[in-house]
Amino acid sequence: MAGNEAKSSPDGRRWHYPDATEHPDDVVFIYEKWCKSCGICYSMCPHDVFTADKSGLPIVSNPEACTACGLCEILCPDMAITVYKDHPARVGGSGKPKR
Ligand code: SF4
Ligand code: SF4
Repeated sequence: MAGNEAKSSPDGRRWHYPDATEHPDDVVFIYEKWCKSCGICYSMCPHDVFTADKSGLPIVSNPEACTACGLCEILCPDMAITVYKDHPARVGGSGKPKR
């Protein structure tokens, strides 16, 4: 469904805005440039939110399942993930992440 696809910004930052009904304000950011495709996030996510692309980069492919528990952010050894709950970009509907 449109809006539930991973998107990449020009500077390589990948973000996702879930159109989820259950957790509409949860946002998972993946900063591609810092990601080394180790697989920890998609191996450890308790809700199978991620899949990996051909190069091993995580894709937020099942956003409705994300509970914004923060485990992927904590476990990422390269600090390439930030999980925002009730992110202002969602509340304000600006359509752009702000960090
Ligand atoms: S845990 Fe971090 S470095 Fe490893 S694949 Fe996930 S985002 Fe990339
Ligand atoms: S915040 Fe929790 S549920 Fe959401 S993607 Fe990360 S590990 Fe999975």
